[in-house]
Amino acid sequence: MQIFLKGQDAGYEAEHTARIFYPAATRADTFPPEGDVTVALASAHALMALVRVGGKVYWKTKPALPGQNREYTLCSLLYRLLCRVTGQRPPWGMMTGVRPVRIVHDLRAAGQSEEEIRQRFCGHFDCTPARYARAVEIADLQRPVLAAAKPMDYSLYAGIPFCPTLCSYCSFVSRTVGDKASRALVQPYVDHLCQELISIKEVAQTCGLNLKTLYIGGGTPTSLTAPQLRQLMGCLADTFTLSALQEYTVEAGRPDCTDAEKLQVLKEYGATRISINPQTFSDTVLKNIGRRHTAEDIRRCYREARAAGHQNINMDLIAGLPGDTVAGFARSLQEAIALEPENITVHTLTLKRASNLVVEHRESAYDDVAAMLAECEALAKAGYRPYYLYRQKGTLQNLENIGWSKPGFEGLYNIYIMEEVHTILSAGAGGSTKLVQPGVRHARIERIFNYKYPTEYLNGFQTVLERKKGVQEFYARYQHPETAGKL
Ligand code: SF4
Repeated sequence: MQIFLKGQDAGYEAEHTARIFYPAATRADTFPPEGDVTVALASAHALMALVRVGGKVYWKTKPALPGQNREYTLCSLLYRLLCRVTGQRPPWGMMTGVRPVRIVHDLRAAGQSEEEIRQRFCGHFDCTPARYARAVEIADLQRPVLAAAKPMDYSLYAGIPFCPTLCSYCSFVSRTVGDKASRALVQPYVDHLCQELISIKEVAQTCGLNLKTLYIGGGTPTSLTAPQLRQLMGCLADTFTLSALQEYTVEAGRPDCTDAEKLQVLKEYGATRISINPQTFSDTVLKNIGRRHTAEDIRRCYREARAAGHQNINMDLIAGLPGDTVAGFARSLQEAIALEPENITVHTLTLKRASNLVVEHRESAYDDVAAMLAECEALAKAGYRPYYLYRQKGTLQNLENIGWSKPGFEGLYNIYIMEEVHTILSAGAGGSTKLVQPGVRHARIERIFNYKYPTEYLNGFQTVLERKKGVQEFYARYQHPETAGKL
């Protein structure tokens, strides 16, 4: 499928409306004379949606009227045509944003009634009542967390962009540590990361920021050796006041590089929450996605984590992996529930450009994903509550990722980053610092990016440190306007 857009109001939103139905479609610069194509056209007098698929052509038009929200009207025209042509009824309707829960928070803050919010979801966007109810349920649960947030709080992210092997669906900036050249990068990387973390502490202190949560993610942080983990976590313990933290998460994602010793190091150096991510408990599906471990390795890792004293464990599952079925996904879910982790996060497979799966599977293979997500009601029955939700571009039917937790074990970092409650300072390759204007609803957000890949990060490290000035400039602008631009 290709997407062809023409006219000022046929832009980003129209493209993403088409991608709800055809997530792996490519953009065409000119109208393709043959093949499958979805078209949105906005001229001065008319709006038109057209789909040519399997040699048949379908279209809808509307006159362009004065005072009309032309972009919305065109997207709505396209959405309804695509529902008819594909026979699909996307659960989130034509809502394309990544943060549906944020809409509930924002509309409430703007003084809208619950009925007006329901209308916005179920009328304007055509969300199903179930998805609207889920967004409201999560917003309710998050309310006290958001209310307790302070303007000068921040969270810290440290990225480890290494993994034992590359999963076939991976769209992260991750480098395998399978070969000698890659392994040789890891130690200098850890040394530089520690330096960057120390510089972040200095900047945060200068700005008067208070650290609330710490997250070591990746990649796979446990692809570091045990001594390297000690070095990194020791640096964090020496640099920051860990006793003041609300939460300290480390992703111990994959059992093929996580052993009892490393799990012990995480505990010893203060991690309060870890993530062991099966993605699936099917050995066949694990093989399909390029993982070189079995479901039994995941169970072993989980037992070792409990033996090391970890009392807050998250497990990630993915709906829509190649070769999985609705029944298979339900079995994985039941296996995860039976282990009784405090958190279970269910992701929908995303077809991103970086992933090999885009090439191999295009948009055809994932018709069962919505049915897989429906199985998640088993989590509610087992006492888990949904506490954060987000969507990513390129998921089939624009479906969601939801973090579920036992009461009192909600992952705060996840809420903070998703609802843009406070600044996230990021260290490491691929790190993206997100600066949130303090104390303001609909805060201004600015970003500072680190280099994407480990080699670039190491080679450009002085620039990485230099860019930290941007954090001070940002806070100076909002706290001391008189010094802005003079740092
Ligand atoms: S573990 Fe995660 S980051 Fe690493 S290759 Fe797999 S999907 Fe990518």
